[in-house]
Amino acid sequence: MVKVGIPRGLYYYKFSTLWENFFTELGAEIVISEKTNKNIILEGTNHCVSEACLPIKAYFGHVLNLLGKADFIFLPRFTSISRKQYICPEVAGVQDMIRNSIKVMPRIIDTEINLRKSEKNSWLAALYTGEFITGDKQKIRTAYKNALDKYRNERQVMKSGVLTDEFKQEAGTMSLRVIQKRSTTLTVAVLGHCYTVYDSFINMELIGKLKEYGIGVVTLDMLDYQESKDRCSELDKMLFWDYGTRAYGGTVQLIENGGIDGVIAITSFGCGVDSFVIELVEKKLRAESDIPFMKLVLDEHSAEAGFCTRLEAFVDMIVRRGIHEDNISSYR
Ligand code: SF4
Repeated sequence: MVKVGIPRGLYYYKFSTLWENFFTELGAEIVISEKTNKNIILEGTNHCVSEACLPIKAYFGHVLNLLGKADFIFLPRFTSISRKQYICPEVAGVQDMIRNSIKVMPRIIDTEINLRKSEKNSWLAALYTGEFITGDKQKIRTAYKNALDKYRNERQVMKSGVLTDEFKQEAGTMSLRVIQKRSTTLTVAVLGHCYTVYDSFINMELIGKLKEYGIGVVTLDMLDYQESKDRCSELDKMLFWDYGTRAYGGTVQLIENGGIDGVIAITSFGCGVDSFVIELVEKKLRAESDIPFMKLVLDEHSAEAGFCTRLEAFVDMIVRRGIHEDNISSYR
């Protein structure tokens, strides 16, 4: 049986259900790299250019973790995952970075995912990918359709505020702590790329820690993408980055819907996309709401103690605000 290695990084945290079901139905054996750990970060950092962000370095580590375990390594090249929107060039170029930095690699399944012009292009990407495993086009079509159904179902479930089993496995203890939106007294929205929000090693168990404080969590996956897109029409021009649309449009939804007691944006040091997207989000929140906002910047040197101190201070502030709020506002 053909073994396909899938690095547990970057858009794995969005498309794992789609990819795993697709390859499995085609008859391939799936090998997923270990959960992110200290060694994966260390190895990734050693093999990657120092300018890259933490998620890219972690991805390198995941690829290294798969060496010798699979016949192929699936390294999709993401250009666009939604119409007229783009993905960060570091994600789009990570295949080439890996090819040039890791000398002994198994064969790479180097599918390009480019849905900028039409979402129908995802079928062409599936066909290209499937042909590495089988020449049976009908089998590829059926496997793709079934995997897509499961993926769409999962996204639908996540919109209701629940992480599905796939994500529960990936996120370990974190998943148990992600609870129905607005079901607790306090709710915090955690904004960030899927690979920082759902990788509990990279984000130092942020969501788990919030739950330990008894705080409910909303992520961008729990908000409607089309609505986010519609909300972005208030800007002078459409945002170039897919994540920008999700984060800005999601923030507008959060403000309008109410019930959010704080917003935490997790970003990676050196992230060009976040450098202006998070700025836009923060400005919007400060101009049109009194929701407290905190930005946490991560890199391979981030220390958990400092991270926890900031998180505790933020949580204390939103808890005490609920208790001691008076006529003279202390936060504006
Ligand atoms: S969007 Fe930012 S965090 Fe994500 S890969 Fe690009 S630079 Fe890194």
